[in-house]
Amino acid sequence: MPLVDRVVALAGEMRSWRHHLHAHPETAFQEHKTADFVAEKLKAFGLDVHRGLAKTGVVGTLRSGNSNRAIGLRADMDALDLVELNEFAHRSRHDGKMHGCGHDGHTTMLLGAAQALSESRSFNGTVHFIFQPAEENEAGGRVMVQEGLFERFPVESVYGMHNMPGIELGKIALRPGAMMASADFFFVKIVGTGTHGAMPNKGIDPMPIAAEIVLALQTVVARNVDPIEPAVLSVTKINGGFTTNVIPESVELCGTTRAFSTRVQDVMERRIRELCEGIAKAHGAVAEVRYDRRYPPTVNSADETEIAALAAADTIGTDNVLRNKPPTMGSEDFGWMLLERPGCYVWLGNGTGAEGGCMVHNPRYDFNDDALKVGASYWVRLVERLLPKAGAGLDGARAA
Ligand SMILES: [Zn+2]
Ligand SMILES: [Zn+2]
Repeated sequence: MPLVDRVVALAGEMRSWRHHLHAHPETAFQEHKTADFVAEKLKAFGLDVHRGLAKTGVVGTLRSGNSNRAIGLRADMDALDLVELNEFAHRSRHDGKMHGCGHDGHTTMLLGAAQALSESRSFNGTVHFIFQPAEENEAGGRVMVQEGLFERFPVESVYGMHNMPGIELGKIALRPGAMMASADFFFVKIVGTGTHGAMPNKGIDPMPIAAEIVLALQTVVARNVDPIEPAVLSVTKINGGFTTNVIPESVELCGTTRAFSTRVQDVMERRIRELCEGIAKAHGAVAEVRYDRRYPPTVNSADETEIAALAAADTIGTDNVLRNKPPTMGSEDFGWMLLERPGCYVWLGNGTGAEGGCMVHNPRYDFNDDALKVGASYWVRLVERLLPKAGAGLDGARAA
């Protein structure tokens, strides 16, 4: 079972949708025109369309047969605040905004799959096509979940896909367990007592306290996190003071942590708070600590990953399914959905050469149009595997 014929036939149309979306990028929670575009297409394909979750989110529902099983497929719609340096005809028309992460391709592939499945009805059950805003920085996926995504659209499992430059075109990578890391941010304000630079004994100097905290924080990964678990803690900014002869009242610092499990996130949050508050207190100052859990790790469940791997093999052949790619320390707000439901997130090869090898978030990046039919076919095969029609064959029966 190679690529889906109907999807291959839609390749030219998908390319034109993708170029339209690329030329009209919209960023976090401003994806109004993009959502209009998606909703109009879904309606034209005959899906029930719901709008408004997380402001610009769109969910299209397609039912077939009599099974009450349901699954969710998710694409992200948002662009980046980035000045595009490409000069091709479909370059961004919106100053300072760019589809530099390929979400134009993700949206297009899910639309292509919706169209193909709306025509073939080659499954038994319900598919919710989830188009989310604000994947970059603002965690629109989390907002959709918080606003009741899975209460309104109950699913037994949920699936995501992201293009990956550096992986060959026509290949899909996935693994059970962590694919991507958490991304948490911490903000610390050390409040002492300002004084003259020549009379430090008349105040409480936050400077050495901040210095002590920066060094002490490096013991969190080295001494508190289980050595067999990956973790990163980086202090990335320090702000404080005015001039040479004034000891300031306060110093602020911030940074980020990355991990592959909530267990490690818990350890890092607790130790950051204890070290900052304890060190400040030891010097008579106060540390105000804010720890912001922005993105959880993206963790694939074992059973759903196995079915996704089989669906990928249906689409591109077993040899093109990469099951042992190491995870990355980048992060993804699809992790919020995987906290709520089991599921699987895969990387779709965007190519390795000049065409598709440029990394995402680079101002010269572009989604590889040749990947559209691969990703959209995978979605179709995944639905057919997860929600098999009676008599869909041995493979279908095994996946049921
Ligand atoms: Zn991105
Ligand atoms: Zn992205």
